[in-house]
Amino acid sequence: MPEKNELMEKIVSLCKRRGFIFPSSEIYGGIGGFWDYGPLGVELKRNVREAWWEDMVLRHDDTTPPPGMPSPYAMVGIETSIVMHPQVWKASGHYDLFQDLLVDCRHCKARFRADQLTASQCPLKPSKRPGEHATCDLTEPREFNLMFKTYIGALVDPESEAYLRPETAQGMFTNFRNVLATSRVKLPFGIAQIGRSFRNEITPRYFTYRSREFEQMEIEFFCRPAESRLWYEYWRDRRFRWYVSLGLSEERLRLREHSPEELSHYSCGTADVEYAFPFLPEGEFGELEGIAHRGDFDLRSHMEGKLVRRGEELVVETESDGKPRHPGSGKDLSYFDEETRERFIPHVIEPSAGVDRSVLAFICEAYAEDAIPDENGVPQPRVVLKLHPRLAPVKAAVFPLIRRDGMPETSLAIYRELKRTWNVDYDDKGSIGRRYRRQDESGTPFCITVDGQTQEDGTVTVRDRDTTVQERVPIRELVVYLRERLTAA
Ligand code: ATP
Repeated sequence: MPEKNELMEKIVSLCKRRGFIFPSSEIYGGIGGFWDYGPLGVELKRNVREAWWEDMVLRHDDTTPPPGMPSPYAMVGIETSIVMHPQVWKASGHYDLFQDLLVDCRHCKARFRADQLTASQCPLKPSKRPGEHATCDLTEPREFNLMFKTYIGALVDPESEAYLRPETAQGMFTNFRNVLATSRVKLPFGIAQIGRSFRNEITPRYFTYRSREFEQMEIEFFCRPAESRLWYEYWRDRRFRWYVSLGLSEERLRLREHSPEELSHYSCGTADVEYAFPFLPEGEFGELEGIAHRGDFDLRSHMEGKLVRRGEELVVETESDGKPRHPGSGKDLSYFDEETRERFIPHVIEPSAGVDRSVLAFICEAYAEDAIPDENGVPQPRVVLKLHPRLAPVKAAVFPLIRRDGMPETSLAIYRELKRTWNVDYDDKGSIGRRYRRQDESGTPFCITVDGQTQEDGTVTVRDRDTTVQERVPIRELVVYLRERLTAA
């Protein structure tokens, strides 16, 4: 395999060449931090979302819950708006706290994150760190809010300010009462959502890893306070296993518990699922997902107002006149437990994952280079994406060996049959070797070829992407054969 940086360049170039990921607005020179998904990328992304939704929402209780906890428990989906009432972000703390410290250079106008100053480069040549050129003139660190601002209605004034959501989570908290009232769920239960989020990241980088527009897959799991530690451990371990089940290797993945100093002021436990992305220096990992025990922080904030820590306690932040600085909704977001006849605010466990970062990790993991023999038995280098079959954008490709002797007709009939169940390709152009290569680079697990023997005995060859071994399979058994092989992994 190539060196790390070279490897990342090759992955980015494969994503472009095969139509996985393009820079947004490329014909105008692109726009930093925004990406478009092409024909294969959109299928891969859809498969990641669907795998998450199937495993976490539809079949969420296939796993064993913590000892003594109920099974099945409820999990429901929701889809909330991107622009929400501005008070949501004030009560949640995002308005005041969702910011990075920035340093500007008055000379070259470059902007750096204060916490990444030593890892950044001044744009002037020769390359040096910010502050190291004689002309560098850095400001003190200044706060910069990461939320994108917009205006609702015709007037651009402070009254009409609103924000694009920087996370999907708040939509679950603001709908807590609606879900309780309409779906008859009882604790413990989860609300799940997949949707776009926006952060005006100061230094978008590492391809799609740090984008300004991205997609999240989030769960807010509500439970009794006394049971919350068990549920936290359950979700932390379960979410780690999910990535392994879809092909990320345990050597490149890790589950990192935050140290007490690192924890948010309201959290009594947070762990990140991290992946050793090839663009990171050796030994460094990047976050794929955070699993946080958030206590009753969010529901309380939306009831009472923005909370701050005072000693051991979370209290509503007040102005000098004693009024809440950012009032909550004033609505009751507590839960009445019919078993214990108690009323309390549930605790929340939040597994929060990024679709784009997962897609990128799956692509990085799947990228491989090897050599396979050509028609004359001479080994030829190839690039192959060994994506898990559930994630592969195209599940099978059908080829006629040559464009005559009835082979195209038979191939098209097979293609149409398989297309009823899966996303399948048909390709009759170029040498068979080149057609295989194209599918290998796209991550297609199986290639089916109709050849001379097909007309005689009704069989086709099925070539396995990873081993390149070919088997003869009767056409009438193809659907069963593929179903077994695609779900076996
Ligand atoms: P980071 O520390 O890398 O900025 P974060 O801790 O701020 O991430 P969270 O707020 O926990 O991230 O968001 C949950 C998930 O959303 C992340 O684990 C990641 O997968 C995804 N995510 C967050 N920010 C971005 C981004 N700018 N681009 C792509 N995905 C993101």
